[in-house]
Amino acid sequence: MSTLRVKMAVKYLVVGAGLFGSVAARQLAERGHSVLMVDRRGHLGGNCYSEKVQGIDVHRYGPHIFHTNNLRVWKFVNQFVEFNNYRHRGVVQSGDRLFSFPINLQTLHDLWGVRTPAEAQQKLAAQRVVCPDPQNLEEWALSQVGPELYETFIRGYTMKQWGRDPRELSAAVLRRIPIRLTWDDSYFDDTYQGIPVGGYTRMFENMLDHPRIELELGVDFLEHRQELESQAPRILYSGMIDQFFDFRFGALEYRSLRFETETLAGDYQGAAIVNSADAQVPYTRIVEHKHFARTKSDSTVITREYPLAYRPGGEAFYPISTERNEKLLERYKTLAAHQAPHVMFGGRLGAYRYFDMHQVIAQALSCVDRELGLTRRAA
Ligand code: UDP
Repeated sequence: MSTLRVKMAVKYLVVGAGLFGSVAARQLAERGHSVLMVDRRGHLGGNCYSEKVQGIDVHRYGPHIFHTNNLRVWKFVNQFVEFNNYRHRGVVQSGDRLFSFPINLQTLHDLWGVRTPAEAQQKLAAQRVVCPDPQNLEEWALSQVGPELYETFIRGYTMKQWGRDPRELSAAVLRRIPIRLTWDDSYFDDTYQGIPVGGYTRMFENMLDHPRIELELGVDFLEHRQELESQAPRILYSGMIDQFFDFRFGALEYRSLRFETETLAGDYQGAAIVNSADAQVPYTRIVEHKHFARTKSDSTVITREYPLAYRPGGEAFYPISTERNEKLLERYKTLAAHQAPHVMFGGRLGAYRYFDMHQVIAQALSCVDRELGLTRRAA
């Protein structure tokens, strides 16, 4: 049972001290509004939270690599922390071989021996499965890269990550990753990329360091619902949208993760992330945190990431993009519009969207823009 310390009437209650809530709280506070913010965890930052282990910033809930083309978002975060110039390049293990990922000319050279974009194109054209209207992740992948690349790099990883057949998943899950027939091996195309110097936690601490923001950690909104709701007429909510409505139409599905972290000597894998594409290896990736910041250290901290089914009381990490869930989400959104017009849902769990960090920030910024626009019109 969590205890609620603060008793103050404010206009805005923010539920969840992750990116959506923190960005929104800061924007509201800067425009003169007092904000009460609660989070059931004992720390801020949501799943971006980082902590120092032997001088290394450890991404406690999985790797977070910041990337955006949105200048407003980039300027916003740079007010609170400096970013290093880390640009992610992926490595994936398939069988006993290591490849560059996302698929690029280096990957195809190592797999097929092709040397030029034209050679790669020719080889790919012979592999692609014609499918004018791909309906799911598997069909889309086969139409783009054919069965060999799909089996080598995508199928096993995707089954582990989502715990279901790729034919049940939306192609959007995979479309976020580029496929390039050049030697450009960057994971992201975005102009602005990096990792906060000193860790994500520092960024959140600075963002929430404002006299009009009151943060209560270790407070579960659902346990104190009546009391909290009565203190603020407007709510920004980044918890699970189905849970907010007490699962009235049934539960949306989420994917959870388990992390196994160990401290070792030396350099374990020479890269921040090495994915594992093989279905029989139970983890999806190994993160070696010091490579995000090029930290000079004789020690190293690595984390193996094991996807698992979400169970009530556990941690929900990913919304699962299937037709069933999309339909259910629409019902919850309609319910929200009718029964909770004072609540603004956001972030991965509130919006039930597979957002990246920059998208959550953009969502929070426009949510507050809209809110304050409405407030001005109503006044
Ligand atoms: N993916 C894959 N093989 C990989 C890495 C990713 O097939 O080695 C697919 C998989 O379906 C995954 C999706 O691409 O769910 C998105 O990967 P991303 O790295 O963006 O996942 P996140 O970091 O958000 O977990």
